[in-house]
Amino acid sequence: MTDPTESPLQIHTVFPDFLPGIIHGYSTRGGGTSDAPYASLNLGDHVGDDPHHVDQNRLRLTRALGLYPLWVTAEQVHGGDVARVKETDAGEKIPGVDALITRTPRLPLALMYADCASVYFFDPERRAIGLAHAGWRGTAADIAGNTVRAMVEAFGSRPEDLWAGLGPHIGACCYTVGEEVVQALEPWEGSILRQRGRIQVDLGASNRAQLREAGVREDRILAASPCTACNTDRFFSYRREGATGRMAAVLMLTGK
Ligand SMILES: [Zn+2]
Repeated sequence: MTDPTESPLQIHTVFPDFLPGIIHGYSTRGGGTSDAPYASLNLGDHVGDDPHHVDQNRLRLTRALGLYPLWVTAEQVHGGDVARVKETDAGEKIPGVDALITRTPRLPLALMYADCASVYFFDPERRAIGLAHAGWRGTAADIAGNTVRAMVEAFGSRPEDLWAGLGPHIGACCYTVGEEVVQALEPWEGSILRQRGRIQVDLGASNRAQLREAGVREDRILAASPCTACNTDRFFSYRREGATGRMAAVLMLTGK
């Protein structure tokens, strides 16, 4: 495995370049200041890492992407609730929610991940964005569908105008679960795989199904994403590593 402290800061992208008006990215392990087990670009301030390293790492990602520095983050309680945020929320962590939506330009939305799926939303017509955190519990609560509906309600977004994308997350290859997860996710097509006596969850399939059900066009759902647990040289993986860092999904509207 490559030493993450040696590798440069690299950003994984989800949306194609031809979508103007947003800055987005998903951080990877390299290019930060944290020591093991958080090496090196840990962005989570709740995992036991030195806060100075986390601040430094956030600043590095901010600069690399050209973001306004005051991110809005969320408590991420593995639930299904969505918050609409605006200028006055800059720099805040919104309690009790797992998704954020906004129409405010230059206000970066940022959520933290190590295996859970990030879901990015962009409405080029209404100039609005959203970002969701979907582990199995959030997915069971239909956080992706809830975010679409919140954008419809708050901004008048039409689901067929939305672009949605999934960031790197744990693949079915590495995500073995128990029966309680089966009941929670079975309603969504393709979520549960049973192979050789094991039950595996495909978070990408569940979230794609939820996006389709909420009215997002299939050809506007971008879901090619590597497995975090198979690629711990590039990504933090809570399931594979236990104590580890967090990546950030970030999304911001440009313009005035
Ligand atoms: Zn895997």
